[in-house]
Amino acid sequence: MALFTPVSRIGPTINLCQQNPAQHVNQVTTDTDTSIVPEHLQLVFERGCKHLKGEQVEEFKKFILKNQNCFARPGEVGRTHLWIHKIKLKDEKPVREPPTSRRIPMFKRQAVEEEVKKLEERGLIENGFLIGQDDSVSGETSKIKRGRKPNRPKQAKQIPQSDTDLTLEVIRDKQESDSILKQILKYKIEGRKPDWGEISSESVHLKYWLARWESIDLKNGILCMYWDDDTKKGRWKICAPNSIEKTILWYLHDTKTAGHLGIKKTYEKAKLSPFYWRNMQESIKNYVNQCEICGERKNPPNKKRHCMKSYVVGDPFERIATDIAGPFPITDNKNRYILVVGDYFPKLTEAYAMPDIQAKTFANIIFRA
Ligand SMILES: [Zn+2]
Repeated sequence: MALFTPVSRIGPTINLCQQNPAQHVNQVTTDTDTSIVPEHLQLVFERGCKHLKGEQVEEFKKFILKNQNCFARPGEVGRTHLWIHKIKLKDEKPVREPPTSRRIPMFKRQAVEEEVKKLEERGLIENGFLIGQDDSVSGETSKIKRGRKPNRPKQAKQIPQSDTDLTLEVIRDKQESDSILKQILKYKIEGRKPDWGEISSESVHLKYWLARWESIDLKNGILCMYWDDDTKKGRWKICAPNSIEKTILWYLHDTKTAGHLGIKKTYEKAKLSPFYWRNMQESIKNYVNQCEICGERKNPPNKKRHCMKSYVVGDPFERIATDIAGPFPITDNKNRYILVVGDYFPKLTEAYAMPDIQAKTFANIIFRA
């Protein structure tokens, strides 16, 4: 049974908004004679009575008369209080859709742009602005933002390349001016390994290199060390002085081709590089951890969690759980907090008032309970 007259019967000339302002069902005037089925409901009544008998027809007639205001009269739309449509018209955000559904085929774009232009001219829609466009530049702050939020602008800046060129001459000079390596150089040129007594008061750094005396040699006037990596493919590596460590690390981690790799991969690259220095792995770790660009762009590593499981207890007070709620307004007894104690075994939960959350107060309550 149709409760409303189809719109096609009303005719195309009716403006629903202007000619029929919204009116609550209770405010609609009713026919004075309620015993006769109104003319516009005759058809509905006759159709409905086809399968009804005696009293049912009377009941149906009463129903129709009672609810006649729900049916449309000729030339108007029927109203009901049973359903209310809410249409939001002001300051509503547009519905977000995934980008795939907004993508328009190339051959349809011109037609879409024309349609959009027409709607804009009629004032039905207003222009938004592209994602990521700067508000202050475009002056479009009052207009609707479409799509997802633009990414937060990056603050960290690329570390500029060092002025130091890692040529053989530069490296030789840096080694000769390095407080530790220049001593090793001197010993190597003299061809004698100092006694332990001679260097016992020296730094650990010097002892580190002297401990590798057999592996160290001069190549073209540069101090090099024969280094065996895990693959057992030994190679000569330049003993890098402290002053060029940062430059080497910059080349390993910060250049555009380096790509800000993590600690492990940067160390793997360092192993393939022609340089070696004491605590190389540690200094790479510190350098990467302190890199602002990495810190800003990369998410922290996913911490693996163990599966949850039930904790089985066999006796009261074998395991308890506590929590403190508050602070609340101070009571007459000067209490501000509530200590909640739950016993895992009987599932008994009790609450105690606490004046403060000091460990002493907590312990007193727990041991007295
Ligand atoms: Zn980085």
